Parts: sequence; C-alpha cells; structure tokens
Amino acid sequence: MPSKIEIVRTVEKLRKKIFSWRKKGFSIGLVPTMGALHDGHFSLVQQSISSTDKTITTLFVNPKQFGPNEDLITYPTDEVADISALDSQGVDMIFIPNLEEMYPVDFKTEIIVPGIGEIMEGVYRPGFFIGVATVVAKLLIQSLPDRAFFGEKDLQQLYVIKQMVTDLDIPVEVVGCPIIREQDGLALSSRNIYLSKDERLRAVELYKTLDQIGEKIVKGELISSAIEEGKKRLFNSGFSKVDYIAVCENDNLTEIEYFQSTAYVLCAAWIGRTRLIDNIRVG
Ligand code: AMP
Repeated sequence: MPSKIEIVRTVEKLRKKIFSWRKKGFSIGLVPTMGALHDGHFSLVQQSISSTDKTITTLFVNPKQFGPNEDLITYPTDEVADISALDSQGVDMIFIPNLEEMYPVDFKTEIIVPGIGEIMEGVYRPGFFIGVATVVAKLLIQSLPDRAFFGEKDLQQLYVIKQMVTDLDIPVEVVGCPIIREQDGLALSSRNIYLSKDERLRAVELYKTLDQIGEKIVKGELISSAIEEGKKRLFNSGFSKVDYIAVCENDNLTEIEYFQSTAYVLCAAWIGRTRLIDNIRVG
C-alpha cells in the first residue's frame, strides 16, 4: 500500500497542514521524540492514535538539553528507519525540523521551571530541563495539539512539562504513558545501544534494585537504609557510579523519609560510560 505519511521540516508547513485538519474538525495528538525510535516511543504513538484523529511525531535531537560533556555528538540517529517505522505505526505526519528551523542564530529565550526542574536530574544535568522545557514549549506552540504524549520513563521530565504547560496556559493536555521494558525488566531507551553485551546483562540490576527498594519500604524498612542497600547492590553488580536514588511523593516528586501509602523510587546510575535512569511506582 502506498504510504500516506507526510513529512514536514518547517513550522510553516506544519501549521498549514494542522490548520487544514482543524478545519475538518480533527483532533490532534503530538508525540515529541529525539528519534532512534523503539517500542517505548511506539507505545506513545499508539496511545495518541487511539485517542486522537491525527497523530504527529517529531524527530529532533535537541542540542539545548545536552551538557558540554554529554553525548550530543554520538546520540543515535536513523531518520530513514524512524520514518519507515512511524509509517507502519500509522502516524499521519512527522515533523523533522533542522537546527536552524528550531533555533535561528538570533534565538534567545529559555524556559526555566524552578523547584521540580532543580532536583535530581536538574542537579546532575545542569541546564537539561531548561533545554527540555524550551524545546517542548516550542513544539507545543508550533503545533497546538489537543494532547501531547510523554513517557513516565522520564518521570521528572513529565512533571516539569506539566508544570510549564500549566504556568504558561498552553492549551494542551499532557498525557503520561507507562514505561515499556525489555523482557528482563530493563526500561527501553535509545541509549541502551551504548551498552556492551556484558553491561547490557548487568543493566537490568537497575530495575531489580528499584523493585527491591520498593518491596523493602512497603514492608516498613527505613527509606534511607533501603536506599543505601540499593546503592551497594548497584555497585556490586558493576555499576560505576550512582548519581541518586530517591524515594519521592507522587504529587510533586518531593523526596520523603517515611513511606506512607504510595511513592516513586527514582534512580540515575552509570554503567561504564552509559548513564541510565529508571523509576517505579510503589503502593
Ligand atoms: P526521547 O526520544 O528519549 O526524548 O523520548 C521521547 C519520549 O519517549 C519521551 O516522552 C520519553 O519519556 C518516551 N520514552 C522513552 N523511552 C520510553 C519507555 N521505555 N517507555 C515509555 N516511554 C518512553
């Protein structure tokens, strides 16, 4: 069957197409990604397709969310494979802006979300959430979808985006989607491609450790000691560094010392030169 998928690379063409859909009364879903797509991304796409008339996916590796010593240069990209996969998924349009389209030379504005944007990832990746909030605000304003879909894999990012959308009155419903995992439990991530065979085998310990911490705190173990034991387990499994393990309340991701009925356990840790993040909901 010939492909009906539309590929646009400019904001002008994006808006023109969206305008024509709006005139026909279609609802619109947006799935922002940095490409190198996997089943985690496709689950967002499917959630959009099932709840809106037209789905747009964006492919843009956003340099503003990478620190100077991070992996911008090596970040995996495969536009041809991504387009073909999104076509099979049933996406209606792909927006692939280039750097100049998103950030012309005289681009200045930055969006800062204090509080939620300054803890955990905000500490270890300074500037990361400024880059994320800025690019997501642009994508949302460029397309003004009814709903935009984000993975709970990047849980803190989801909270930052929700806060920003509320604060700026962006008329979009932000939808969080569950984490898709490999069979052994490792959360899918474009960065998993960096893992050697041996690292890949050990990487699953991240999920298992979070799970174990969850079990312990539900049983009444002190959060601080469950976290310490979790860190030891990660080091014993070959992780080289643990940026943080935190148990946080569901409402605003504030760290808690005592577990009541529900919480998230979040972690960022390094295995070799690869930084992995994951989280689980407890209770
Ligand atoms: P990225 O391309 O890494 O920026 O991710 C684009 C979107 O896909 C973000 O909203 C991520 O949270 C989401 N995502 C990435 N990996 C997963 C996963 N394993 N499960 C669910 N959503 C994911």
